[in-house]
Amino acid sequence: MDNLILRAKELLENKTVQVVIGYEAGPTGVVRPAFISDPANADSLIYDERCVQNLAVYLTKPEVKHLGRIAIVSSLPVMRSIMMLISEQQISYDEIVVLGISADGVLLDIADLSVMQGYIDKSDLSNPVKYKELLAELKKLTPAEKFEYWQKELSKCIKCYACRQACPMCYCTRCTVEVNQPQWISVQSNAHGNMEWHILRAMHLAGRCISCGECGRACPVGIPCHLLTMHLTDQVYNYFKVYAGTSEKMNSVMSTYEPNDKESFIV
Ligand code: SF4
Ligand code: SF4
Ligand code: SF4
Repeated sequence: MDNLILRAKELLENKTVQVVIGYEAGPTGVVRPAFISDPANADSLIYDERCVQNLAVYLTKPEVKHLGRIAIVSSLPVMRSIMMLISEQQISYDEIVVLGISADGVLLDIADLSVMQGYIDKSDLSNPVKYKELLAELKKLTPAEKFEYWQKELSKCIKCYACRQACPMCYCTRCTVEVNQPQWISVQSNAHGNMEWHILRAMHLAGRCISCGECGRACPVGIPCHLLTMHLTDQVYNYFKVYAGTSEKMNSVMSTYEPNDKESFIV
């Protein structure tokens, strides 16, 4: 990825940005996020199939925002996350430079927001192929079988909230689960509390999830919680013909109402 390194160095040297967020190999070879502010360190940047973490999660962190203008290595899920964060007024495109990377690992020339929009528009935005088969299998289950499947999976949840921390759309300063007056969600990791947490999380991500899969990947006990939000992604598309992260001006599906909306989903 020589082009990426050269571009990162150039942006840091001419002070277009103060930090580049990308990927590097740590001392044990495990790929980790890199925050590079010295052009001399840009040589450590890598991009290959191991670079899957959705880096957009850092764009809303105050400690990262304080670093200055950011260049961010962006695969399609990162670009869609950026589009969502702009549409939800969490960041402005002026605060960042997008170092877009195509699906086959080529550095893209994302000169401005309209170029990024064009790249997203011509991409396949449905759930990633690797999850489609499992989603289809789950869809075939009866409601009782689905409930049993999720009860079993969610019984493993230790409420560590790594799934939330990994998600770029979970940027709330104070998550509902941390509010105790009133206590919306029980703190304990038990069958009832776990179900409450996951229903809440899924509904908060409905129409906002950009299908990166990071929540499931972050889970230390292997709960496929990404399938909940990806299922809702399918549902939102079926009903409203819209995918998250496709426009800087998109309205939230769960908080937008038109008097002539179909109400067939209300039973
Ligand atoms: S797949 Fe998970 S981490 Fe990624 S946007 Fe959706 S809910 Fe967030
Ligand atoms: S789960 Fe809901 S309240 Fe908590 S951080 Fe995510 S979006 Fe915010
Ligand atoms: S990361 Fe896994 S164990 Fe932790 S709260 Fe999320 S689903 Fe539960």
